[in-house]
Amino acid sequence: MSYFVVNENCNGCLSCVENCPANALSFRDNGEKRTILHNMARCVRCANCWRVCPQQAIEFQHFMENQWDEVKTLNLVYCKVCGEPIYTADLEETITGKTGREIEALCPKHRGLNFAARQALVLSGRRG
Ligand code: SF4
Ligand code: SF4
Repeated sequence: MSYFVVNENCNGCLSCVENCPANALSFRDNGEKRTILHNMARCVRCANCWRVCPQQAIEFQHFMENQWDEVKTLNLVYCKVCGEPIYTADLEETITGKTGREIEALCPKHRGLNFAARQALVLSGRRG
């Protein structure tokens, strides 16, 4: 999704194109149509286009609001002793696939304990 959006106020004056320091804006005239083009890979997000646009037509969705976009949600694996989230199920699958070894779901704190000590913690219901 592009953060760069031009709204219906745009009249195609090309001020933004002429004032973009990164050559991230361009345009294409085709028959009776003019299309304004934006290249996300080139854009350095300086907002110069937004400042110079006489029509207040440029909107940086999310960019100006400084918000986080969710790009991926994964299932977590929890430490079987204390219940702390330790890694994702997909990472576990990747590591298991590469090493051929099952991983015990333990956080760094409880990885060093021997089996009897871990069992004692689980049975006592302690989360320490
Ligand atoms: S400067 Fe504004 S009005 Fe002019 S072409 Fe760019 S977005 Fe459209
Ligand atoms: S934010 Fe800066 S680099 Fe990106 S299109 Fe606008 S003027 Fe060009």
